[in-house]
Amino acid sequence: MFRSNHITFVSAGLLTPKKRDHALARRQLYLNYGALSLATKLGLKGYEVSLVHGEHSSPEELFRQLVDCGRFPSIYPLMVSIPSFYALPWAQSFCKLAKAFDPHCRIVVGGRWVVGPDPVWLQGVLQEADVLAPGLSESVIESLLTENPVLSRIAEPTPSFTLNHRLVDDFQKYQPSIEASRGCGMGCAFCEERDIRVEKLSDGAKLAVSMAQVQAQYDGGEIRPYLQSSMFLPNVRWADDFAEHAYHLGIAWRTETRVDAITAKTVEHLARAGLRVLDLGLESASPRQILAMGKARDPDRYLRAASELLSACRANGVKAKINVLLYAGETRSTLDETTAWLDARSDAIAGVSVGPVLAYGPPKTADILIKGWRELGARPIDDRSAELLGITPIHLSPDFPAEATEEASLALSRRFMDEDSYFALKSFSYYPRDYGRNDFDKDVAASDPAALPFVVRHTTAA
Ligand code: SF4
Repeated sequence: MFRSNHITFVSAGLLTPKKRDHALARRQLYLNYGALSLATKLGLKGYEVSLVHGEHSSPEELFRQLVDCGRFPSIYPLMVSIPSFYALPWAQSFCKLAKAFDPHCRIVVGGRWVVGPDPVWLQGVLQEADVLAPGLSESVIESLLTENPVLSRIAEPTPSFTLNHRLVDDFQKYQPSIEASRGCGMGCAFCEERDIRVEKLSDGAKLAVSMAQVQAQYDGGEIRPYLQSSMFLPNVRWADDFAEHAYHLGIAWRTETRVDAITAKTVEHLARAGLRVLDLGLESASPRQILAMGKARDPDRYLRAASELLSACRANGVKAKINVLLYAGETRSTLDETTAWLDARSDAIAGVSVGPVLAYGPPKTADILIKGWRELGARPIDDRSAELLGITPIHLSPDFPAEATEEASLALSRRFMDEDSYFALKSFSYYPRDYGRNDFDKDVAASDPAALPFVVRHTTAA
C-alpha cells in the first residue's frame, strides 16, 4: 500500500446541525483553531501538514476526498480532532472508515472538551482511537507522531506563533482566528473553563503583528478575525496600546467576554483598534438565576456593569450580541425578568442568542452537574444520555419542560432579531467569506420559518 508523508488533521464534522436543522444552519463554518495551532506547530518544524474540516459533509465524502488526493494512507498517524460532543458520532463513523481501509493506520484523537473529561469512557465509544490526547497538546504534538507518551490534561500557554490559515483546506472560505489568551477560571457552574486559570493577554503589539500576518495569508483581502479568548480581560492601558498598533491595519474583528470584564473606556480603545462585534455572555438578568449558575456573587453589580458596557458599545459603534442561557430552575417569572431587562436596553443590542443549559460530558462529569440541577427543579430528559452521547438535555423546571424551552428560546431571539440583524451578525464570522446577502435570502426562502431564530419581515427570493 502506498503511503504519503503527509500529516492530516481532520476536524470532525456534524451529522446534523447543533441546534436546529435548516439551510442556514448548514452554512455555518467553525474554524478549529485548536487543531490549526497543532498543525501550524508541525508545519513550522518542516512537516507537510494540512487541516480539513468535516463541517456538514458526510464522513464518507470527506474520507473519500482524502484517499483520492493521496494524503491517506500516510506514514504518519491520522490526527482526528473532536471539537464538541456533537461531533462525536461523525468522528466514530470516520474512524471506522479509516481503520477499515487501512487497519495499520494509527489514529490520534484530540479535542480537550471531549477527550479530557473521561478518556476511559471515550475509548469505550471510540475503539478505533489508538492514542487519546486529553489536553492541549502543543508541547507533545511532535512526539505523538511516533510514540505513545503518557498524556495528561495539562494547561499550555498561548503559542507565540501566528496560526497558519493556509494549512486549512479551502482556507479562503473561513474567517481567521487569532488566539489572544487561554483559560478563565471564573467558576460559572455550567462551563468547562470554570477551573482553568486565566492567562495574561498576549502583548498588544505582538497581537497586532499577528493580525497583519494573517491579513497577508489572505493576500490582503478583507478579513474579520475572531479574537479567541475565553476570558477577554483587557484593561484600559492594554486596549490603548493595542489600538496604537492595530488601528492602521483597518481590520474589523470580533471577540467575546463577560459583561462585567471591561470598562467603557476600554471599549472606546478597542473600537479604535477595530472591534466591531462583541459577544457577551450575560446568560440571565434574573438575580436568582445569576446566583444559581454561579455567574456572579453580586447580581446587582453584575447587571449594572452589563448596562454600562452596553451603553459603551452603542456609543462606540460596537454591535453587542447577547447570549442568554436558560438555566436549571428557570421559571416564567425569571425569564420575564431577563426579557424586561433586555427590552429596556434594546437600542444597544444587535442580537440575542438563546438556548437551554445542557450537561456536556460522560457520567463522570455530567452526574455532578445534574445532581445540582435536580435540586433546582430540573431533570434529565433521558437518564442514559450522558453514557450514550456525552450530551444531556434537561427539562429545566415544571414551567419549562424541553418543548416549552425551545419555544421560549425562539420567541426571545425573534424579539430582538430580524433577517437583517441576523445576517449582519452571522456573516461577520460564521458564514463562508464569499457568502452574500443574495445567498442568504435564498437560504431563508428555502428554510422552514418556524425553525428560524429571527423574524422574517420581507419576502425573500427563492
Ligand atoms: S466567564 Fe465565561 S468562560 Fe469563564 S467560566 Fe464563566 S462562562 Fe466560562
